[in-house]
Amino acid sequence: MALVEIKHLKKYYNTPRGLLHAIDDVTMDIEKGKTIGIVGESGCGKSTLGKTLIRMEDATDGEVYFDGKEVTHMSQHEFKNMRMRMQMIFQDPYASLDPRMSVSQLIAEPIQTYHLAKNKKELDEMVFQLMEEVGLAKRLANSYPHELDGGRRQRIGIARALSLNPEFIVCDEPVSALDVSIQAQILNLLMDLQEEKNLTYMFITHDMSVVKHISDDIAVMYLGQVVEKAEYQELFARPLHPYSQALFSAIPVPSIHNRQKRIVLKGEITSPVNPKPCCRFAARCPYATDLCREQEPELRDMGNNHFVKCHRVEELNK
Ligand code: SF4
Repeated sequence: MALVEIKHLKKYYNTPRGLLHAIDDVTMDIEKGKTIGIVGESGCGKSTLGKTLIRMEDATDGEVYFDGKEVTHMSQHEFKNMRMRMQMIFQDPYASLDPRMSVSQLIAEPIQTYHLAKNKKELDEMVFQLMEEVGLAKRLANSYPHELDGGRRQRIGIARALSLNPEFIVCDEPVSALDVSIQAQILNLLMDLQEEKNLTYMFITHDMSVVKHISDDIAVMYLGQVVEKAEYQELFARPLHPYSQALFSAIPVPSIHNRQKRIVLKGEITSPVNPKPCCRFAARCPYATDLCREQEPELRDMGNNHFVKCHRVEELNK
């Protein structure tokens, strides 16, 4: 069952050069209790998609349904309660935490904002319970963010997101600012919490090894659009879009017998300002034809819930 349904979502920004299409007609469902990985180069619209879903940014057009209710056009008052159920974990925990607040104050803040604790005693109990859930020792309650390492700071971010008992969390590059040794600990924590609390994640990353570790489904984005989407095993075994094939070819393979040839993309990235109706990847695609430069392809179902946005997908993958 889909917890989040995204329908023709668009987010445009006015710029001096014209209308920047950051998100352009994205449609997808996110199943309850599952993780959808969103991958693509920086600037492809991944973070804007996450923020627009939970209304940190206003959508230009389209709808988002959460648990069957349309949230994009809800009044702020109505959305306040819905917002508790949709949270976000940020890329840079240091930048997203107020340096003047202690660990316990940072975790208590959302609980106080939503008046979820009856008194100080209950608030303290909730804070210590959250610290335990995310693996922060009680003795750190009075520490400040600058006294902690990146992993512990991200654990505070996770505790803040969990403090309102959400069902859906947008994880925006939550491990990319961390040392590799700590990345696995945070990913494992997120997966344990998902199992315990039946959480649904949108996991945004540019790191293909990370997305493989955590995702049930993966959507590949290019210049504000989803160009391919499938279950993770299917997509890793059989990427069909030329852009996904280039992305996946860059993943390091441990075996020397299994080395794949890295596809290096050439050509300029098309401007997302006032884009023409064509395949947005045409300027870098080695298989582009006149049709690709004149007509935008549809995102089509190739079977097995595998969707691809390419005019030539059948002939290129015979
Ligand atoms: Fe390449 Fe054309 Fe497919 Fe776009 S539609 S990815 S340009 S072959």
